[in-house]
Amino acid sequence: MSLPKAELHLHIEGTLEPELAFELAARNGVELPYADTDSLRTAYQFEDLQSFLNLYYELMAVLRTERDFEDLANAYLARAAAQGVRHAEIFFDPQAHLARGVEMGTVVEGLWRALGSSARNHGVSTQLIMCFLRDESAESALETLDAAKPYLDRIVGVGLDSAEVGHPPVKFREVYEAAAALGLRRVAHAGEEGPPEYIVEALDVLGVERIDHGLRCVESPELVARLVRDRVPLTLCPLSNVRLRTVDVLGDHPLPAMLDAGLMCTVNSDDPAYFGGYAGDNFEAVQQALGLSEERLRELARNSFLASFLEHDEELRARYLAEVDAYEF
Ligand SMILES: [Zn+2]
Repeated sequence: MSLPKAELHLHIEGTLEPELAFELAARNGVELPYADTDSLRTAYQFEDLQSFLNLYYELMAVLRTERDFEDLANAYLARAAAQGVRHAEIFFDPQAHLARGVEMGTVVEGLWRALGSSARNHGVSTQLIMCFLRDESAESALETLDAAKPYLDRIVGVGLDSAEVGHPPVKFREVYEAAAALGLRRVAHAGEEGPPEYIVEALDVLGVERIDHGLRCVESPELVARLVRDRVPLTLCPLSNVRLRTVDVLGDHPLPAMLDAGLMCTVNSDDPAYFGGYAGDNFEAVQQALGLSEERLRELARNSFLASFLEHDEELRARYLAEVDAYEF
């Protein structure tokens, strides 16, 4: 779907398609435990968040050089542009690379080779958000922030991802305070598999401006009222929710009720190579499964730009919003 939109919840490592995984494996002399792209694609069937994460980390072994990260980002940006994405705020997971001996500079500079020229090459403006792995220690997150200090001109904010349950936001209070002191924007995954309390904690303790997922807010009317009142954006990922069994089928997704309640929802792709679709595919899927009206889809697109970290270029944001208003279905 070519409706102009911003993508606010996208893990660049989660855009690694089987074909590129094999290409990079061959280039770097990395042996993958799969015979071919078909058998790898078959492995992209998960039971839950943890089984997905196991494969996600396994495949990262093919990403070694700046050029690998550049190719990965360019492949994503081309696909996103073809589906109407005009602006992308892209997550990356440095700890997963540092642990394999790949330096912070290799990751950031490699991604930047694609992101820095994306407006020109793909017609997509970009920002980079560095995520901490919540199943790693708070100390490791602090070390990661330290390692990123030479590259802060490339990084707009910090996020929190990976296995949620048992790793409440409060564990990362210190690193979020340090990030805020450095002028970084703050977001966090919360309320995907974890309880509504994690969303409250992310807001109150970490000071986040957006909640990634946030689906389980619907279990707390009090929290919903707060999110509506404060216009806190939620970066929902419908196809991801189905693949990771957060909802049974897309037709059961609470998105329509959430919009009716006045929540500031956006629709995103999370890890599109693994979850069966990019941003436009997610829009199309919710339109078909949930019967969203054109005005609802336009509202989702408007929300995505309103929730973007585009404060440095309000002219650009206004141009994107005008494109959404002028879009003809
Ligand atoms: Zn995510």
